[in-house]
Amino acid sequence: MTTQTRYTGLIARYQDRLPVASSTRFISLGEGNTPLIQLQNIPRLIGKNVDIYVKYEGLNPTGSFKDRGMTMAVTKAVEDGSQAIICASTGNTSAAAAAYAVRAGIKAFVLIPEGKIALGKLAQTLMYGAEIIQINGNFDAGMSLVKEVADHAPVTIVNSINPFRIEGQKTAAFEIVDELGRAPDYHCLPVGNAGNITAYWKGYSEYAADGVCENRPVMCGYQAAGAAPFIKGEMVDEPETVATAIRIGHPQSWDKAWNAQKESGGWFDAMTDEQILAAQKMLSQYEGIFCEPASATSLAGALQDIGNGKIAEGSTIVCTLTGNGLKDPDSAIMQCKETHPVTIDASLDAVKKAILDNMA
Ligand SMILES: *Cc1c(COP(=O)(O)O)cnc(C)c1O
Repeated sequence: MTTQTRYTGLIARYQDRLPVASSTRFISLGEGNTPLIQLQNIPRLIGKNVDIYVKYEGLNPTGSFKDRGMTMAVTKAVEDGSQAIICASTGNTSAAAAAYAVRAGIKAFVLIPEGKIALGKLAQTLMYGAEIIQINGNFDAGMSLVKEVADHAPVTIVNSINPFRIEGQKTAAFEIVDELGRAPDYHCLPVGNAGNITAYWKGYSEYAADGVCENRPVMCGYQAAGAAPFIKGEMVDEPETVATAIRIGHPQSWDKAWNAQKESGGWFDAMTDEQILAAQKMLSQYEGIFCEPASATSLAGALQDIGNGKIAEGSTIVCTLTGNGLKDPDSAIMQCKETHPVTIDASLDAVKKAILDNMA
């Protein structure tokens, strides 16, 4: 006899550890359960004895980890009778909010910075039919407007200041421990608003407190150099980086992220746009994994700190790849403009020559 194992999303899987009741209607698109892929070529390339895994969150239903938080936030919003949700977004939160609102049959309002959101994210949000409010300002300006307007209109905020977002996102840590049979030694991730580093730390801490795992990882948070308030030690007013998903100068989970850093014995560091794009390309070209620029900040940081010995050889490291590379086709094509495909005659001879010339 076979056992039935249909996967129906992370709330169903981890309901014992989430704030839901048996009567709760789960608003789900089958999110979570993403691959934990061990890198095979990059460790060899850098000549280091390390086990690096990437948690490929780009394979969530709308292509980023935001779905983990959104399934919980929208489930609770609906349970509480809300008819509309609102968020400020650099793109991925708006795509997730829009999709889960459709699923729930409620309205989504999204505030996005004009001209600063990646093409794929805009396409998704348009298709899902959210009410898009484009503002003449950055994410931080949108975030403070959302907080204000929620006091004046019947809308539920689904940014990561909504505690249910963190609850949903902590399940990524559960999945990693369930799969590895332990927590990694180091967990590296990109930091923008800092909800995700907060969520992972909560997940690992809950599992450790219940004895599911013995250890908790050292948390390593990496920001883009032009948007690095945690490294500067103060808020940044004009954040700038190619990694638009972390183009944030006023992180909302400031204290909670510092707490994760301190309790875990971890650190924050800043990566240049060049380091971020190099890591993104490396993942694509050596491992066959395509993530968006912001996501590669985790690997960029890990590689730097493996190189300088802060992350010891022999360690098990998990890097979260927060979003799918297809989200931001413009930046990918820009980076590969030298390898732009050449056009040849549509003849057997020409194709044969093209293959033989390039076999080396
Ligand atoms: C939201 C997002 C981040 C940043 O996560 P925070 O919780 O805001 O720190 C990083 N990468 C991608 C792709 C994102 O969408």
